[in-house]
Amino acid sequence: MRGLMQDVPLTLQMVLERAGSLSAAKTVATKTADGVHRRTYGEVVERVARLAAALHDLGVRPGDRVATFAWNSSRHLELYLAVPCMGAVLHTLNLRLHPEQLSYIANHAEDRVVFVDASVLPLWEKIPGLETVRTIVVMDDTDGAATGAPGALDYDELLAAAAPRFSWPRLDERDAAAMCYTSGTTGHPKGVVYSHRSSVLHSMASLFADFLGIAERDVCLPIVPQFHANAWGTPYAALMAGASLAMAGRFMDPASVSQLVAAEGVTISAAVPTVWFGVLQAIDAGQVDPATLSTLERIVCGGSAVPEALMRGYDELGIRIVHAWGMTETSPLGSVANVKSTVARDQVLRTRLTQGIPAPSLKVRVVTDEGEAAPWDGATMGELQINGPWVADAYYDPAAPGGRGGLDRFTDDESGTRWLKTGDVAVIDGEGYIQLVDRTKDLVKSGGEWISTLELENLLITHPKVTEAAVIAVAHPKWGERPLACVVRADESVTKDELLAHLGGHVAAWQVPDDVVFIDEVPKTSVGKFDKRVLRAEFADYRL
Ligand code: AMP
Repeated sequence: MRGLMQDVPLTLQMVLERAGSLSAAKTVATKTADGVHRRTYGEVVERVARLAAALHDLGVRPGDRVATFAWNSSRHLELYLAVPCMGAVLHTLNLRLHPEQLSYIANHAEDRVVFVDASVLPLWEKIPGLETVRTIVVMDDTDGAATGAPGALDYDELLAAAAPRFSWPRLDERDAAAMCYTSGTTGHPKGVVYSHRSSVLHSMASLFADFLGIAERDVCLPIVPQFHANAWGTPYAALMAGASLAMAGRFMDPASVSQLVAAEGVTISAAVPTVWFGVLQAIDAGQVDPATLSTLERIVCGGSAVPEALMRGYDELGIRIVHAWGMTETSPLGSVANVKSTVARDQVLRTRLTQGIPAPSLKVRVVTDEGEAAPWDGATMGELQINGPWVADAYYDPAAPGGRGGLDRFTDDESGTRWLKTGDVAVIDGEGYIQLVDRTKDLVKSGGEWISTLELENLLITHPKVTEAAVIAVAHPKWGERPLACVVRADESVTKDELLAHLGGHVAAWQVPDDVVFIDEVPKTSVGKFDKRVLRAEFADYRL
């Protein structure tokens, strides 16, 4: 027997409609050099219609990729709505990547139109070999200080000239809404393609009290960039809940963040630990008055593990850090460490420091090296795998059948359940809490962004005075991890500065290792692979 309920497609048009009809007076505030600029959701929704009309006039059609190269802002929010709701695909480009990586990603996604913040136009102009971009639209985020690019359109002029109404098409909930590339250990970055359905379900889950619990009364400050996994979905979740938003623009230093919290009465924020570590340090140094954070109730923190000292530091200020785990491939929220009522009282802090339990509708398992599903005993380790309606099913590959590539990162079990192999090594305890203990991905995560060790090693090895090179992650109090290059010299005269300068020519400045140590040989496993565990143990206490 079939259910007899309405089959309403879950599309982001729901989010747009609801924000316009039920939360028109709520605001999105954007920090600028001159102060804070506010717009109501009512105004945003009107501008979104104009933006969709303008995109249509520019020749954008359903399925076309429209890229953004921008900080968090109300204009970026307008793009988050207009592009998917007109049937096109929002592609957020990561400002922190090297121009060559950006060129690969924009060409691979076949971006047609790109919206660029004026403050990052100089970065945009460094990107070589763009093959598909036809139109550039500049968004002046400099209070009029920047000059536009030759041949580029101006965002606000484009909107002013556009028709005030747009006839939204009927969309299929499985259509692509947005895409975001993520670093792979080997090869090029991989494209994750979110559907309307996955985006709506992920946003709804963010409203659950036992997940992020974003509510109408909240003022939400996503400091996690809109170019990184849709700012963890918080803009859509806030619009859906009717919560106001505060956007930091390019001002993410502790003073600016705390001023924005105070000015907007922010109640919930989301960011990697590095950001909140900086704010805590500034409070300790007397540079930020903790009273500016008096409205802040909770901080969703993830992207890398939350250190205990950070959680305790904010506990003392009466602000709850909510530890979350996720990946670009999981939209990105997978699990949140809210404490179940069955957890023993003396286990509360330990539990809050785990990566949490999966959201309703997501399933996780840990698979051992022997290929067995591990018991939930808090001790048996293996790769964390995840399944659910907002988890990727494939990576985008236009050359593969159906555009479905990267299939080696997925596995189907005997019951037909599809699992994403996360590359994280974990244990799961008896209550279902995930604890990450290692990762198989040979990458460094610094301040929430990835650095490819393989790319650095390949570049080091091209230096004529280098025989072998292994790059490892070393713990860092502020950035979580930083790269350390372990190099075997072919020529004793080679210097650290020479090698770092060599890397600086090919990767972004923040991806260059903090230090180089010269070793006699890179330790190897029995099959001759680099044994980085040995190096990581040897340099575990290395101070960068
Ligand atoms: P990304 O796709 O860039 O968001 O990175 C996802 C990866 O970041 C995960 O697979 C983990 O390796 C790491 N990660 C995310 N959240 C956490 C967390 N709470 N604790 C430790 N590692 C995390």
